[in-house]
Amino acid sequence: MVIDGLEFARRQGCLAGQLRLGALQRLNDVLFDADGHLDYEIAGEMAGNNAFLKLRIEGPLRLTCQRCLGPMEFALDVSSRVMLVESGAPWPEDGQLGGLEDETCDAIEASRELNLLPLLEEEILLALPIAPRHEACQPPVVADLSGSVSPFAQLARLKRQ
Ligand SMILES: [Zn+2]
Repeated sequence: MVIDGLEFARRQGCLAGQLRLGALQRLNDVLFDADGHLDYEIAGEMAGNNAFLKLRIEGPLRLTCQRCLGPMEFALDVSSRVMLVESGAPWPEDGQLGGLEDETCDAIEASRELNLLPLLEEEILLALPIAPRHEACQPPVVADLSGSVSPFAQLARLKRQ
């Protein structure tokens, strides 16, 4: 998945396919399991002299709930636009990015060998909730098999004395 970024934008290239979740190492760290795949679409476009890549990634993910550590369904749906900056060209100020409406977008250095996989993975990671949690769930109950009294029970007893 390597393209010449600027060339791709100039000829308004289009790429679509499926990403295997198992191939996305960094994403795997936050997934409950890495079965399945996401659909992606990448389109190149020009706005004035600026080159952009439009990214769309969607599909189901299973995140790990930060409270109960169980699986949590998450419907990923990312649409974003990345500006390609020619190497040597001045880096755009935040407010100058996009060039289209007031849409926020990131800029990356245009490369003749732009690897799309890390780019897509980055966009996916940015779209995930920071601390995913079910709306209602309980923390896992840790079974106390040792038979010892918990510190809280001891404290309660002390208070009663
Ligand atoms: Zn949960």
